[in-house]
Amino acid sequence: MHDEHVTLQQHSGALFGDRFPVSGWRTRFAPAPTGYLHLGHLVNAIHVWGLAERYGGFVVLRVEDHDLTRCRPEYEAALLEDLEWLGFVPHEASVSSFRAGPTVYRQSDNGHAYREAITALEKQRLVYPCTCSRRDILRAVGPVAEGEEPRYPGTCRTLGHPSTDTRARRVILEPERVSFQDLRLGPQEQTPANDCGDVLVCDRFGHWTYQFAVTVDDRDQRIDVVIRGEDLLSSTGRQILIAHALGRARAPAYFHHTLLRTPEGRKLSKAAGDTSLRELRAAGASAAQLIGNAAFRAGLQPTPAPISAADVVRLF
Ligand code: GLU
Repeated sequence: MHDEHVTLQQHSGALFGDRFPVSGWRTRFAPAPTGYLHLGHLVNAIHVWGLAERYGGFVVLRVEDHDLTRCRPEYEAALLEDLEWLGFVPHEASVSSFRAGPTVYRQSDNGHAYREAITALEKQRLVYPCTCSRRDILRAVGPVAEGEEPRYPGTCRTLGHPSTDTRARRVILEPERVSFQDLRLGPQEQTPANDCGDVLVCDRFGHWTYQFAVTVDDRDQRIDVVIRGEDLLSSTGRQILIAHALGRARAPAYFHHTLLRTPEGRKLSKAAGDTSLRELRAAGASAAQLIGNAAFRAGLQPTPAPISAADVVRLF
């Protein structure tokens, strides 16, 4: 069993529970340029920059454009511009280099790192070619609830397909329990082999998956603390297992924050057309008004009083 009972105190010398910060740990803001940033991203940015500043962390900006079919350069340009307008400045991707591009970590520039990582897993016989379509998987496991991923039943694990049959690869996740201490939600236990089965790391078109790309990036960019919405909580156990398989001795610590939801309880999303920050800006809202509103809706302050990016540290 993997036990990741890590607090920020033990984790990197930083002090989370105590009242004085020790600097030096690294976190990331990692939006996918599949649409414009909305209030949900802003809640994430408030947590990332606020906690980093409060407890002595550094913020790395990572553009998560592994899904080349949905990401667009104009969304990347827009998110960089939105962040600058809001006043959230990453420590790695300085404002002066903001627009120049090369210092922004971008997953589409990282293919070599993912290829090296998969080769290392292949050497340990931890990945195998998988020819199953989604339909094959559903046929094997039966229907799944709306929005749920079916658990991969391991069909191709022992079939020994030649690597030339498909580009799709899965990583073997042994049936172990992963425990970790979420820095907001407390002790968590997950068994990824039961929840999702062997994870797809690359699909049949050769596209890297979110689970794999993010775990390689968190290792290579030396991310100590992952701060993200609680919709991603169920991904954490599998990312910890993949991180260990990739030779990372200690997985990051995790802080999963509350999400903004629509009145019907759905999380905000670009795909569903929720109002973007730039539309709100065009309608006359100031950056401080938007940040204050997002902080209020996330329960971080009692009123929607405007607050600047430089002051979000006061919310923590
Ligand atoms: N790129 C993901 C998103 O925009 C975040 C992934 C993560 O924080 O692990 O939702």
